[in-house]
Amino acid sequence: MRHYSCDVCKRPINTQADVRHVVKIEVFAAVEDEGEACQACCGDRSDEADHLEEMQELLERLDDHDCAGLLDEGTVSMRFDLCDACRQRFLRNPLGAKTAKHFNFSQN
Ligand SMILES: [Zn+2]
Repeated sequence: MRHYSCDVCKRPINTQADVRHVVKIEVFAAVEDEGEACQACCGDRSDEADHLEEMQELLERLDDHDCAGLLDEGTVSMRFDLCDACRQRFLRNPLGAKTAKHFNFSQN
């Protein structure tokens, strides 16, 4: 049997008695539609007349505009195990912003 511990309070999670909650966070760069430059490598432009010139242009653009690379390498995935108490705290304040005065990790 695997042993888990809460990534926030480090308390061991007994999976037979407690529920283990998993938080998955993905951080990636949002690719906005910036018009022609992005459509060149991401969009479908098959209706263009001059395909050869189009291909040449596209290849040149791919060299200095690595849109696909940005999508792959820019993504950071994180995964955390949380006990039930920390799960509730997390849901109240997912980004850990210190605006809420009642948000307190100390035991009382
Ligand atoms: Zn915890």
